Amino acid sequence: MAKTRASAFHGGLSYVRPDPAGPWGTFLEQIERVTPHLGELADLAETLRRPKRTLIVDVPIEMDDGSVGHFEGFRVQHSLSRGPGKGGVRFHPGVTLEEVMALAGWMTVKNAAVNLPFGGAKGGVRLDPKKLSKKEIERVTRRYTSEIGGIIGPQQDIPAPDVNTDAQIMAWMMDTYAMNTGLANTGVVTGKPVNLGGSLGRAQATGRGVFVIGCDALRRLDMPLEGARIAVQGFGNVGACAAALFAEAGAKIVAVQDSRGAVANASGLNVAELLQHSRGGSGVAGFSGAETIDREAFWDVACDVLIPAALEGQLTAARAGRIAARLVLEGANGPTLPEADDTLAERGIIVVPDVICNAGGVTVSYFEWVQDFASYFWTEEEINGRLAQILRGALRHIWETAERRKVPLRTAAFIVACERVLTAHRERGLYP
Ligand code: GLU
Repeated sequence: MAKTRASAFHGGLSYVRPDPAGPWGTFLEQIERVTPHLGELADLAETLRRPKRTLIVDVPIEMDDGSVGHFEGFRVQHSLSRGPGKGGVRFHPGVTLEEVMALAGWMTVKNAAVNLPFGGAKGGVRLDPKKLSKKEIERVTRRYTSEIGGIIGPQQDIPAPDVNTDAQIMAWMMDTYAMNTGLANTGVVTGKPVNLGGSLGRAQATGRGVFVIGCDALRRLDMPLEGARIAVQGFGNVGACAAALFAEAGAKIVAVQDSRGAVANASGLNVAELLQHSRGGSGVAGFSGAETIDREAFWDVACDVLIPAALEGQLTAARAGRIAARLVLEGANGPTLPEADDTLAERGIIVVPDVICNAGGVTVSYFEWVQDFASYFWTEEEINGRLAQILRGALRHIWETAERRKVPLRTAAFIVACERVLTAHRERGLYP
């Protein structure tokens, strides 16, 4: 394949002006940092700076009061070099094109880092789920699915849950796709209800993956799991599930922060009780089994491990200079800014990056997709066993790459992934 004259294109894309501190700016910086390590494949790296396909859709729905509400929806297929697009759909008031592009890019890297046969994609609709009724959410889901219907499919691009989307939303997506195409193909989305072709263990898979990877990382760093003090940012599906598994294994959850507040207890929180409290509607704040602290004070809590499991851009350089943890496990996508990566490296703090640390979700999505094709379903034991095997193997490969190349784990994960993506891209060649 001909060499790309990268410098000619670095002006970027006309349809997005990346904020250097925003998610797409972060992704571009991460690509910039890996490029010198890619040898002759570096000539092809320009392709990673350009999402393959970007779709912006209007999602009009009838609101419960009879008016028409318009929502902005996106589906970005960052790369399809290694297989169909794969990645979740989020419903959040902060969703932007720039964010969805970055999340799609991280899916490309994640799927390749774990060696799943997928490209990378992501979707989102900008809305505040707290302000919509269940019926309105269903209508948004169905209209959004219809609008992106032309580019998704079991062999094209397979959505899944992400922030504020769940198995019920996947059931509506699957049904809408089936009604529109006449194909009752359950493999068009993953993270569905188990009754509808979903996989056992999928709902917990991301949190379980953080736990599996975390245990392995602690062992590699000679840090005991028993009594390890863990601070968790975000108490949604990923944060709560990882916290529960770590607590069950003997670690202490010493602080939890969510979008509304933060709590701390140096002797360890009861995760099940905290979950019950937070489901009451006020978040973690006010939990009687802990002290309610200022949200920002969360970053100063004495701990050994920090799990950012909320949104991107949370670990800024300033916060990275304050945290007490020796190990950061990225449950969220893109939680650490590049400058914070530098600060953490200077301070000798190890970061297990999102693209491997939270890959448990998409790994079990892959199992779900395979099971749907085969119409044959595995036991939860098989799922959890294969998940742990894949994640541990991927971490070993990335850890060894980091040691051999003398780079941080994030760069190592990007080296492994980008080599796979760009090699596939070169093997396929340009057509026409
Ligand atoms: N939303 C999850 C992620 O960020 C899972 C995606 C999937 O299962 O396709 O990795």
